[in-house]
Amino acid sequence: MVFLEIVEKKRDGGELSAAEIDWLVDQYVAAEIADFQMSAFLMAIMWRGLSDTETTELTRAMASSGARFDFSDIPGPKVDKHSTGGVGDKVSLLLAPLAAACGCIVPMISGRGLGHTGGTLDKLESIPGLRTDLSYQEFRRQLVDIGVAIGAQTEDLVPADRKLYELRSLTATVPQTGLITASILSKKIAEGTEGLVLDVKTGSGAFMQRLEDAHTLADRLHHVAGLAGLKCTVLITDMDQPLGCTVGNAIEVRESIEVLARRAEHSADLEELTLELAAEMLVLGGLAENTSAARETATEALESGAALQRLGDLIERQGGDPRVVDDPRLLPQPASSRAVLAPTRGWIEHLDARLIGDAALALGAGRTRRRDRLDPAAGIELHAKRGQHVESDEPWATLYYGAGADLEGALRKLEAALTIGPDQPPEVHLLKERRS
Ligand code: URA
Repeated sequence: MVFLEIVEKKRDGGELSAAEIDWLVDQYVAAEIADFQMSAFLMAIMWRGLSDTETTELTRAMASSGARFDFSDIPGPKVDKHSTGGVGDKVSLLLAPLAAACGCIVPMISGRGLGHTGGTLDKLESIPGLRTDLSYQEFRRQLVDIGVAIGAQTEDLVPADRKLYELRSLTATVPQTGLITASILSKKIAEGTEGLVLDVKTGSGAFMQRLEDAHTLADRLHHVAGLAGLKCTVLITDMDQPLGCTVGNAIEVRESIEVLARRAEHSADLEELTLELAAEMLVLGGLAENTSAARETATEALESGAALQRLGDLIERQGGDPRVVDDPRLLPQPASSRAVLAPTRGWIEHLDARLIGDAALALGAGRTRRRDRLDPAAGIELHAKRGQHVESDEPWATLYYGAGADLEGALRKLEAALTIGPDQPPEVHLLKERRS
């Protein structure tokens, strides 16, 4: 095959065959196609798009570009969750152990935070000693013993996505539905899951800020997952304000533990979304007949402490200090804190998730480049959220930070994130839509 002919075909609006897509992916991973050539191809896709068939073939080719995890011999349904990312989205920390406590086998390969969005691996690694660079054998043993493992993509898993994602982030070709779909699903197929619940976020802190774009992505993900043989349910959920009441790393682990330990006071949305997603995982895994029965099972596992116990097991197995589950003060503590006061009395109309994510980034809780180091103890606690009333000069947030934080920058972002009005705003539903 000739690279130029394939790019020309896409540039002129043609549909690529499975053989052409396979060849392109193989040659790119083998470094026979250079980055500058692939950049031109990606830009042609930005303009011309990918059909569902092309997206499915790209997903398959990428999933097969390296090693594949195979857990089919482990008894129990293999089910995972993936979120398109947001601010304060710590759901995986609660959901993975909760679903495992209900009988799912959860082989969760997660990512790191970039820009205003956080990443599960960074949050988990804030637990002293905890490792996420699990080998395939370690991952497998953990699934056999406790039904859940959360790790980083190994070097040999989906190398095509690693290379392509890096290139896309440098060539303005990330926001293309077909490319996003193939990137997400190829990793999930390669990690050996049989069922997948997708949480597509929409709102100011999400990748897909507009609901119409979230619809398009949700439909594409759902359809292509089906064509690729992966059982899948998609929820579209709100990310206009942060999820829960913390944004950062150790601070989000603390909130997750508090929800699982039934000590949280301001995390109703986090608990609600965790239970919704858990119910979908149990139904996909054939462990419940419908979502209401599944939700009962999940609620019981949450209330009995079984999910918390499973999180403690996961922490211990991955080298972390399991005592954090009983005493979250063992997590990294910030050097300094600063309360942020409400400028006026009234109702919180809007808490812009994107700006709050940017404020956390300024404090050192995130990274702007993949290689940046972050401060595990930095972050933000929200004492009030959308729809709540605040008095003038009442602290509505607290910033936690250490040396090197851009405190002034964070304060500017945070102040811009808050809109207070005279009337209580209408309720915004957390769960917007569902595709199954
Ligand atoms: N997340 C991914 O894993 N891939 C994308 O392309 C976008 C978000």
